Amino acid sequence: LFITLEGGEGAGKSTQIRRLAARLEALGHRVVVTREPGGSPYAERIREAILAGEGKPYGPFAEALMFSAARLDHLAQTIRPALARGDIVLCDRFSDSTRAYQGALGEIDDGELAALERVVIGETRPDLTLILDLPAETGLARANARRGSPDQKADRFEAENLNFHKRLREAFQALAKADPQRYRVIAADRDAEEVEFAIWQCVKGKFAR
Ligand code: C5P
Repeated sequence: LFITLEGGEGAGKSTQIRRLAARLEALGHRVVVTREPGGSPYAERIREAILAGEGKPYGPFAEALMFSAARLDHLAQTIRPALARGDIVLCDRFSDSTRAYQGALGEIDDGELAALERVVIGETRPDLTLILDLPAETGLARANARRGSPDQKADRFEAENLNFHKRLREAFQALAKADPQRYRVIAADRDAEEVEFAIWQCVKGKFAR
């Protein structure tokens, strides 16, 4: 079972992925928690190179290629071996982040990204993708609080403004709308316990045990 969590900054993806993993482990499942960009030694190195790009030197297409190169390694080294062992894989961001950030916001053509996905991901598509959805204002405020002060930038990506967050939210919502089988939109603008419960309602029916 391959589950991905997606959403903008400050949506609570890392908190929720930990909570979901704990629930699954308590039921006796073996769980691999991983993230993108990163998730394998080489992919983590590519992550550093991408996030070090203050001032956007690469441009969205080169970024899409770098995220894809990282994903190729992540799939080969971490995700596919775990799925082959029968483990549940929980991944913090995956190809939908590329579709939203480089596709919708970077204005890379859908068809080009789809072609890239076919090559990179092949058959290893998520069984379930949870979109943690919240108003752009809330996400931005949370991201700002997390890094201490609004002008102390953790990385160049988080420096984006309110309009960016709004468009990002719309991009994830549009992805979910286009494929209701795979995606579930989770209202993330509430207590972590409530979000955790909503996520659990989506996940618990996905495996037989
Ligand atoms: O989720 P996390 O904060 O670790 O992601 C790192 C950064 O990479 C985020 O700020 C996100 O905006 C950015 N990112 C991106 N394109 C992707 C994936 C992540 O711009 N495809």
